[in-house]
Amino acid sequence: MINMKAALKWALQDKNVHTAIPGFSSYNEIIESLSIMKNLTLTPKEKEDLKIGDEKGYLGLYCQQCGKCISQCKWNIDIPTIMRSYMYAYGYKNPFKARETIEQVNFSHIGCNDCAVCTINCTMGFDVKEKVLDIIRIKEIPNEFLV
Ligand code: SF4
Ligand code: SF4
Repeated sequence: MINMKAALKWALQDKNVHTAIPGFSSYNEIIESLSIMKNLTLTPKEKEDLKIGDEKGYLGLYCQQCGKCISQCKWNIDIPTIMRSYMYAYGYKNPFKARETIEQVNFSHIGCNDCAVCTINCTMGFDVKEKVLDIIRIKEIPNEFLV
């Protein structure tokens, strides 16, 4: 899980950033996000949490939505939308939002299983094939298990 308080503080400490627009899926998340306005100073634990990605060599979950992958894909899959779905599932822990997002993708067949090698050179260094095949499984889960 991303330490959202630490991430918000980090963003708002940038002198060029005056506003953040976080998304909420619960009342507690609103309270948590608003609480940082009392004090933007990062605690030692928050500083540590912000380093986890670098220390463990994580590529992160954030897709830049640059769209450069689409023309590289043999099946022209809407990969940016699928990557958003992946981020909602694993970063936000919000499988319902992940499912809702992936349903925007117009596909009857995902060709990843037919590609011996994925041809995509992602801006963020993602293993796109692995992520696509992982998150599309959510389409098979009935809605009542996701609410
Ligand atoms: S190239 Fe990578 S970062 Fe850019 S839209 Fe595609 S998946 Fe996202
Ligand atoms: S493996 Fe999937 S994402 Fe990669 S080129 Fe093939 S269809 Fe596109």
